[in-house]
Amino acid sequence: MQNEPAYERNWAGNYRYRASELVIPSSVEEIQERAAGSRRVKAIGSRHSFNGIADTEGTMLSLERLNRVVGLDRANGKVTVEGGIRYGELCAYLDERGYALPNLASLPHITVAGACATATHGSGDRIGNLATAVHALDIVTAGGEILAISRDDGDGLLDGAVVGLGCLGIVTALTLDVIPAFRMSQTVYENLPLAALEDHVEAIFSAGYSVSLFTDWRQASFNQVWIKRTEADAAQAPWEPSFYGATRATERKHPVPGLPADPCSEQLGIVG
Ligand SMILES: Cc1cc2nc3c(=O)[nH]c(=O)nc-3n(C[C@H](O)[C@H](O)[C@H](O)COP(=O)(O)OP(=O)(O)OC[C@H]3O[C@@H](n4cnc5c(N)ncnc54)[C@H](O)[C@@H]3O)c2cc1C
Repeated sequence: MQNEPAYERNWAGNYRYRASELVIPSSVEEIQERAAGSRRVKAIGSRHSFNGIADTEGTMLSLERLNRVVGLDRANGKVTVEGGIRYGELCAYLDERGYALPNLASLPHITVAGACATATHGSGDRIGNLATAVHALDIVTAGGEILAISRDDGDGLLDGAVVGLGCLGIVTALTLDVIPAFRMSQTVYENLPLAALEDHVEAIFSAGYSVSLFTDWRQASFNQVWIKRTEADAAQAPWEPSFYGATRATERKHPVPGLPADPCSEQLGIVG
């Protein structure tokens, strides 16, 4: 593994990609040329998938150099980005301008295109998965043409393409719905009994703007419940000391027990 090129393994290092070469284009035109001139081409995002979904017998294309915001359309609440941008990069841009995405990936490192292509999560029952924010896509197809599809077309094509698993072509641009920036209050509860989830699944998953459960599968309980409420909602209802048998954490937590909580988002009900 010592002399392996970095692209050959995923983020965690536990999966080795298959591809005949890695190319990192600097322009959409270059992607079009590669697509038209190669027998097989597949995009790779930030390499956070755990499996062979990005593998190809041909050329693996990384869009890491195409990571800019193309434009913010304030009138229609839309932002258009290039296919290699990561959530952390996009959110900093939006927040500076008073906007936000309705939902975020758990990790700031993953690409918007990669997360949407795999229907990466929502959380709780109030917000859809990340792909539901996509309004339009530009896809470079096998022949090198750009296929522009939008929800505005009303033909259902976007719905069929947005979770494309990287199989339909190279997504070079995405237009996403944005909403006014908002702040959250988050609290972690520990040790939610499995029986409580069975009896109160609806109430538990609707207990906040975002609700996530974490388990290591070792006991008949969830190690942690992470609940995020909007600042306005949190101001109306105090965080209770217990939640369906789980206990409110009194110190910041990492979802993986034992790891330091430094890289995690704000907790303990503090607005952030
Ligand atoms: C620690 C960790 C926690 C995670 N937690 C969750 C979770 O809670 N819920 C959940 O649903 N997922 C979770 N994931 C999975 C992760 O969100 C997905 O694997 C996501 O696809 C990773 O995005 P990526 O940018 O790394 O894409 P990659 O893994 O690099 O690629 C994924 C797919 O997207 C395609 N793709 C990437 N870019 C493009 C593009 N420009 N055009 C066309 N296709 C493209 C690739 O071809 C491939 O098929 C987690 C992953 C990690 C490492």
